[in-house]
Amino acid sequence: MLVVQKFGGTSVGTLERIKATAKRVIETKQSGADVVVVVSAMSGVTNQLVEYGEHFSKEPYGPAMDMLLSSGEQVTSSLLAIALNDMGYPAVSLTGAMAGMYTDNVHTKARITHIDTTRLKRELKDGKIVVVAGFQGVTADGDITTLGRGGSDLSAVALAGALNADLCEIFTDVDGVYTTDPRIEKRAKKLEKISYEEMLELASAGAKVLQTRSVELAKKLNVKLTTRSSFNHNEGTQIVGEENMEKVLVSGIALDKNQARVTLRGVIDKPGIAAEIFNALADKNINVDMIIQNVGVDGTTNLGFTVPQNELEIAKDTMSKLSAAKNIEYDDAIVKISIIGVGMKSHSGVACTAFDTLAREGINIQMISTSEIKLSVVVDQKYAELAVRVLHDAYELDK
Ligand code: ADP
Ligand code: ASP
Ligand code: MG
Repeated sequence: MLVVQKFGGTSVGTLERIKATAKRVIETKQSGADVVVVVSAMSGVTNQLVEYGEHFSKEPYGPAMDMLLSSGEQVTSSLLAIALNDMGYPAVSLTGAMAGMYTDNVHTKARITHIDTTRLKRELKDGKIVVVAGFQGVTADGDITTLGRGGSDLSAVALAGALNADLCEIFTDVDGVYTTDPRIEKRAKKLEKISYEEMLELASAGAKVLQTRSVELAKKLNVKLTTRSSFNHNEGTQIVGEENMEKVLVSGIALDKNQARVTLRGVIDKPGIAAEIFNALADKNINVDMIIQNVGVDGTTNLGFTVPQNELEIAKDTMSKLSAAKNIEYDDAIVKISIIGVGMKSHSGVACTAFDTLAREGINIQMISTSEIKLSVVVDQKYAELAVRVLHDAYELDK
């Protein structure tokens, strides 16, 4: 039996928490399983490091930024290995590179290309607990990379896949996946199970509890994934195939505060304009999300889209160099709220409930987008929490 256990920022946020994590890992080891542990940086550390880097530049030099960002996880993986050894359990701490985590060279957003498991397997064979620094990898040239924010989840799933682990447990500061962020809505319910598809939509819509790409990879590699609390022994949430789920109409609501809106007015309405704008943003690796274009009048049209708020400065810079984009407005005082449920595939009326509910509260909808199992709306950020709560209520998710 091989288990991969990932501990997030709050679970290793203090020296006491690292000790508690060591005890938790030992419990698993004592049960007879081999254990690979993946850790995040202490909570707040990565944000601090990003701030340091951005103090010097809006677009910090990628390779150096990744050297900096990866240091947070090296601290916690080393400390955890020291604690484990002290408690009598031989453990080794590995950076992403030492663990054979190879990536492409897109700094701060690298993708895993392959994992060389030689060292990992050797350490496990020697009976060691292997502690891996999450969120990081290495290019073929030997440069350190990081995998994008929240990327330790991805490290864990990728290692579980490569090692053919029996289970990948993501330990965090809540008991599992809830119908919405339990810090916003106290009446949110913990889900016993959720499908990969719904979890993927929830994650990409902003529910931080699991990182989007980790869910995507778990589905692809068939990794048995659960999320649970490191602060208690309650049952967590299992991420399962859709066939194991009862069909519910709406399973959850997600809030994404990291959103900003870009509006272009009077754009010339001719072929190639959208391509010019979105290619320029794609070249900068900016994830454009909701896109709305109006029906053109008098040869011009209006175009709106959202980008992650923390990429707005780079987006502004990129847009300022385009001939197509003259009259531009930016608004970062917005949020995106998404309603997710496989039942939406076969039921109409889900969207109407949301529109009615928001209208009753006087919350104006600025943008709308839908997919098979998701409805997203953009609203003023001052309504963020209120909108989540009234929608949670409207779909009776507390029942
Ligand atoms: P970690 O540092 O352990 O990776 P994160 O902060 O990345 O933890 O993710 C856990 C947080 O996700 C919780 O503290 C919670 O506030 C938030 N969250 C958002 N949506 C949900 C949800 N639907 N279910 C559970 N937690 C959620
Ligand atoms: N420490 C990294 C971050 O804050 C990775 C992670 O926590 O998963 O984004
Ligand atoms: Mg996280």
